[in-house]
Amino acid sequence: MDSARTASPLARLAAAFEDGTDLLSQAVAVLRARADRTELSFYEVDDPADLPLGAADRRLLAAYEELSGRGLEVTAPCSGCGARTTLSLTASSVGPHVWASVRTGPGSGVREPTYADLLASAGDPDVVLARCRVAADGVVPVGTLADLDRAEQSLAGPLRSVCVECGDPVVVDADGVAMVLGALATVCADFDRDVHLLASRYGWDLSTIEALSDHRRQRLAALVSGVV
Ligand SMILES: [Zn+2]
Repeated sequence: MDSARTASPLARLAAAFEDGTDLLSQAVAVLRARADRTELSFYEVDDPADLPLGAADRRLLAAYEELSGRGLEVTAPCSGCGARTTLSLTASSVGPHVWASVRTGPGSGVREPTYADLLASAGDPDVVLARCRVAADGVVPVGTLADLDRAEQSLAGPLRSVCVECGDPVVVDADGVAMVLGALATVCADFDRDVHLLASRYGWDLSTIEALSDHRRQRLAALVSGVV
């Protein structure tokens, strides 16, 4: 039996998580496990690592929503009264990605970076910029780091809401990729626990358990642990 083809969505997510050694490569592995062919063809790429950052971040957030059945919750304290406010981040609350390059001169521009650009640059913004400068034939590409900032539409940056207690503005400086991966790690940990409970109780092998639908496996694990 080919367990990779029959494994449930959560089983494939857990396997993808093991493939990444750092946040970005983990994000790429998750996107590859849950690639959306329509989206890839819209952006004219074959590999999710080549999606513009803004599109890739939104796909990652959508993957969390699909797998967990809820938005990504971010809790922050109000600086005015100290009450905690919870913001729910969803694909619809962050708005759609707009695919565009920033024009920097005649025949020259800066495109939005991708996860592949970030992985290849090893954290050096000048390398990212050099990879993202684009130009017409015979034109020397120009563009600054400020242009690169304008081009990227990642989900990193301030999230704004209003305190439910006192009405003061609450701003959270958030890194969307790190938050989504942190939340997905919790989903994976729950999956591992469920698999462990069923394997211990019934002696089923891994591919049998991973082939159960996620809903069925969760119900059986709840029965085993006495939660229901
Ligand atoms: Zn407040």
